[in-house]
Amino acid sequence: MKKCFVCKHTQINPGRVNKMFESDGRIIIVKGIPALICANCGEIYFETSVMKKLESILSHSFGELEIISYDNAA
Ligand SMILES: [Zn+2]
Repeated sequence: MKKCFVCKHTQINPGRVNKMFESDGRIIIVKGIPALICANCGEIYFETSVMKKLESILSHSFGELEIISYDNAA
C-alpha cells in the first residue's frame, strides 16, 4: 500500500481497528483487526490475509450478535 485510494495521501499507518459486520441478518463485531489507516482521511485498509481471516470468522459465527477478538479467532 503506497497511497490512499480515497485522498491519495501517502502516509498510511499500521494500527488496529474494531469493525462491525452484517451477514445474513447477523451482526458480528470483530475487535483488534490489524489494519492500515490513512493518516489524512482515516480510510481503513485490510491486507489480503486479514480479509481472508475475517471471511473465515464471519462464516464460522452463528449467533445473532457476536463479539470476537481477532487474535483469539481460529
Ligand atoms: Zn486518505
